[in-house]
Amino acid sequence: MSSEVEKAQTAKHEKHKETIFDKIIAKQLPADIIFEDDKCLAFNDVNPQAPTHFLVIPKKRIPTLDASCEDDKEILGHVLLTAKILAQKRLPNGYRLVINNGPDGCQSVYHLHVHILGGRQMGWPPG
Ligand code: C5P
Repeated sequence: MSSEVEKAQTAKHEKHKETIFDKIIAKQLPADIIFEDDKCLAFNDVNPQAPTHFLVIPKKRIPTLDASCEDDKEILGHVLLTAKILAQKRLPNGYRLVINNGPDGCQSVYHLHVHILGGRQMGWPPG
């Protein structure tokens, strides 16, 4: 089992609980931030799985995609469009977006985030 899978299997999802990403948003923890506006934040992943690997997260604490609702439509759209704008600049040859959801989805941080990966040929199916 990879360490990412192990983390995902042991991560405890407690609704409304602060995660490491809240601390990054609040600048209480360092991150390699590449973009920020009033609704979202993007930073390079500390454990990159591709030559380019960054995350876009909403500033609003939404634990999982499952936990999102109709009211989150605008923020979800904004996160996705931000991911696209940043990816187009850095990865003109293509890229992959991933949202892990829950233990089987390999989610280890319970604050919704979009992974953007690129800079190498991706395989299919994903592991
Ligand atoms: O989708 P999942 O929850 O597994 O992804 C969490 C991601 O957050 C991991 O890729 C991990 O490397 C990243 N991370 C980070 N900075 C932190 C903690 C986790 O980039 N301080």
